[in-house]
Amino acid sequence: MSSYNDCIKFSLNIKDPLLEFLDISIGKYRNRDAKFYHAVAHLDQCLNCGSTNIVHNGHLYSNVRYPALDASLPVFIRVAKQRVICRDCHMNSMAETELVEKYCCISNATKRKIIGSLTEDWSMKSIARQTSTSTNTVQRVLERYGYSTVEDTDWLPEYLAFDEFRGVGRQLHFIAIDGHTHKIVKVLPTRLKKDIINYFKRFPLTVRNKVKTVTMDLNYYYDIMAKELFPNAQVILDRFHIVQMLNRSFNSCRIQEMKKHKKGAKEYNLLKYYWKLYLKPFEDLEKVKPYHQPRLKDTLTQEQVVADGLRLSPELENTYNLMQDISKALRDRDTDKLKDLIKSKDHVGNMMHTTLNTFKRNLHDILNAAKFDESNGCLEGTNRKIKQIERTAYGYANFTHLITRIQLEEKGAIIKEKASSWYIAA
Ligand SMILES: [Zn+2]
Repeated sequence: MSSYNDCIKFSLNIKDPLLEFLDISIGKYRNRDAKFYHAVAHLDQCLNCGSTNIVHNGHLYSNVRYPALDASLPVFIRVAKQRVICRDCHMNSMAETELVEKYCCISNATKRKIIGSLTEDWSMKSIARQTSTSTNTVQRVLERYGYSTVEDTDWLPEYLAFDEFRGVGRQLHFIAIDGHTHKIVKVLPTRLKKDIINYFKRFPLTVRNKVKTVTMDLNYYYDIMAKELFPNAQVILDRFHIVQMLNRSFNSCRIQEMKKHKKGAKEYNLLKYYWKLYLKPFEDLEKVKPYHQPRLKDTLTQEQVVADGLRLSPELENTYNLMQDISKALRDRDTDKLKDLIKSKDHVGNMMHTTLNTFKRNLHDILNAAKFDESNGCLEGTNRKIKQIERTAYGYANFTHLITRIQLEEKGAIIKEKASSWYIAA
């Protein structure tokens, strides 16, 4: 072969020996300047029976898109695919090349580039622009990847974390991730009980029996479901959610008390503008150094501000103490103290009363939160990433697209290495 051909093949990184490059030119494609490489795909035997007793029967020309260094000048490889008729079996054959799939005019190299770009936080539109393709092509590559992932039902992680997030059409989707490796196990389009049960029932009981813990928030049916699906697992309520419920209950009580006072009064200001101090762990409050508090026209330490606020109502004070003590017991992993606190008979705010009742009903799961190290903290990162993916795309209309994209961005680096072999094999 000529050195000219070798040189082009080297620069385009094409190794197919049956492809021969003849020329280059600048031409027009849809009224835009484009770079054209002219090539012939040779065929010297019948693809049906392998006979070399053939008659050449012209060429089929196709313009194959190829990744360009400069996206403003799209690159095409104009391939003339050799067609032959076999003298033995009278069948037609056409040359095939590694460059591109049969009946397709987007080169495999471009598809690899798209897959690589899909693992980054870029919108499909910008990927299409960079690879000189259309958004539809990018979506098709994404869909194709989605179908190629096969799920096996003979393994589940030992530590599962359940949660939900808002996605396509403002709907809530169920998500399960591996509590230790933080890999996504499954995202379901809905959070309905029957869908979640149907999904996990596909795993045989022996596999489900191996699940040791399931962490979740206080969603009333996740708990029942987890016990049904994973008989050997400990259900753990997420510590963050427990603390969140306590904070919310205290805030409702604080606001009720605040509304009893006139706007602008010292009592009102104490409860309104220092809300952050009440939620801070008591031991972290500044107790020594006083600061001037312009809202109160006084110089006080943080501890004094909180004490002054709580003095306004015994109910508020009880609620505060309970919130602080339960949070502390959770941090210290003190299950006995936690049990006593939840059974407390102190007079507390209405919402705190309801929260305590909820805790009593789920006592075992709450105590597990103090007993085990597992929590849903691992989901925070995943949920943040999903939000970012949705924001970059200005939302997804297609659930499969969203999920495939999440999987792609999660696997990131691995895909980039595997994509090359994947598209050649496909
Ligand atoms: Zn033949």
